[in-house]
Amino acid sequence: MDRTVGSAMVSGVAVGAYLSGIMRDRIHVQAPAKLNLALSVGAPGADGMHPISGWMATVDLHDDLELVRLPTGYPSRYAIIWHEEARRPSDIDWSISRDLAARAHQALERRIGRGLSVQAKIAKRIPVGGGLGGGSADAAAMLHGLNRLFDLGLSPDELADIAAPLGSDLPFLVHGGSAIVSGLGERIEHLPEPAALHAVLILPAISCPTGPVYGRFDDLRPDARVDAVRVRTLAASGPNPDSPFNDLAEAACDLHPELADLRASLTDAVGLPIHVSGSGSTLFLVAEDELTGGLLAETIESRFDLPAIPVRASGGARVGEIIRGTGD
Ligand code: ATP
Repeated sequence: MDRTVGSAMVSGVAVGAYLSGIMRDRIHVQAPAKLNLALSVGAPGADGMHPISGWMATVDLHDDLELVRLPTGYPSRYAIIWHEEARRPSDIDWSISRDLAARAHQALERRIGRGLSVQAKIAKRIPVGGGLGGGSADAAAMLHGLNRLFDLGLSPDELADIAAPLGSDLPFLVHGGSAIVSGLGERIEHLPEPAALHAVLILPAISCPTGPVYGRFDDLRPDARVDAVRVRTLAASGPNPDSPFNDLAEAACDLHPELADLRASLTDAVGLPIHVSGSGSTLFLVAEDELTGGLLAETIESRFDLPAIPVRASGGARVGEIIRGTGD
């Protein structure tokens, strides 16, 4: 696996592609992160899966995926690197066979019954194990990119159906935008994008793998029930600094006391509630407007020596949006 850090190679390839001709032989796709503005989780069913109801929105922090078409029958190749702008790079220590984007590629090939040979390069900005759905975002972008590169003509619903077995965030991330997500993640109810959502993502140097957080949640709340009404009410009223809630926050903080301490210190420092995204470790606050978000991010960076990134609902980055390509 390519562990090179940096984007020089990525942008060099893309410029070459832009100039290189008429055939669509490469494509460049954005993979935006998601934020859980509300997350209610129930006790697991007999299959061990947790039902959820959540309000999710994609934000304009994104990974970049580049796909170059290879001759039919060539083995596909993958490189996962950190983008030079990445604020919280960590070891890329999972095998290609476990990479969600590679698995989505294979699931699509199985579904259509033929190979789709590509060279794929993912330049990551979204922290790993951060509760921002980075791996799932890469997988969603892979499906959109292949669909476009090979003119497969699959609808977002069909792509979401292919993606669903790979993870509960995936159907939502195939669609992006803002939605109430329920069931095991497969039921998506689209909402108007919260245009006014300005948030600050705070990225501690803590990885919160999803499995152990759910395990701790089961210990803490064995009789948990999904509160869909609470999620719906909150989504209807729109985001404000106090409103986000997350049933996994307590479990993530219980498992990682340093995250709980940081959350408390940040709350004291900025005078606003600090929320946990997904299973952590990303913390976030909702700011009243863009200016306030920028100032709060600067304050947090300087006082806590932590990456703090102002983001907004995905006005600038949409799932599967083609940002450079040939023959589009
Ligand atoms: P979630 O919000 O779904 O819990 P997360 O941000 O906590 O997501 P991810 O970064 O999506 O977690 O993925 C965590 C793990 O998934 C990694 O440690 C790695 O083992 C595996 N993984 C597989 N493919 C990828 C990928 N393309 N990017 C990041 N992680 C991946």
